[in-house]
Amino acid sequence: MDNERRTLIRALKPHLEGLAAFGVSAVPAPVPARAPRAGGLARAAGAPSKAERLARLARAVEACRRCPLYQTRTHAVVSDGTSEARLVFVGEAPGRDEDLQGVPFVGRAGQLLTKMIAAIGMRREEVYICNVLKDRPPDNRTPLPEEMEACLPFLRDQLAIIRPAVICTLGAVATKALLGPHVSITRIRGQLREYDGIPLIPTFHPAYLLRNPAAKKDAWADLKRVQSILKRGDK
Ligand code: URA
Repeated sequence: MDNERRTLIRALKPHLEGLAAFGVSAVPAPVPARAPRAGGLARAAGAPSKAERLARLARAVEACRRCPLYQTRTHAVVSDGTSEARLVFVGEAPGRDEDLQGVPFVGRAGQLLTKMIAAIGMRREEVYICNVLKDRPPDNRTPLPEEMEACLPFLRDQLAIIRPAVICTLGAVATKALLGPHVSITRIRGQLREYDGIPLIPTFHPAYLLRNPAAKKDAWADLKRVQSILKRGDK
């Protein structure tokens, strides 16, 4: 095998493994990678870049004491990925691994999320990943309404800064946080919704998919919808 072919196989491997995780055997064309828009095209001279605004927000999260969760955290978990992302994933809250490392979605559910991203031909570094809560709730319990209320302004700010082409909410907590408390993830998953003028597709949380592998085919359909919005390039 020549070097060129070996390099191609190495580059394709994560994408194919992502597809395999969803039991997919047909290969959709990947979303073409775009050159990062250096600091945003429409930015006024001297205005802070998205990366600078997100870095300021991260410092505010790290200093936050709006709810008692700061007392038990090892690290606040703000985000992973790029400020220039066209796709943002929103999860629920950090778990143990995320609290220890200060990075979202690095445990088992995170490994599946990485495969979901690869399945649509993207890399984690090309998207932006964050959670509704920035601190881990004790024993990974569901976030309390007052914790969500305290933390939600950070998520809203993250989305306002990035203004991606599409948001993909992972599970009930993230979906309710952005669309309202009365929505049901089982009823609206895969349906095109909108948050602040940004297309939003809700799908199952990867932790749910680990417990219910039969639901992966639905999640794959949702991801293809996300991919088609990105390919339309309506941004
Ligand atoms: N589950 C989440 O919702 N977020 C993480 O960061 C990890 C697991």
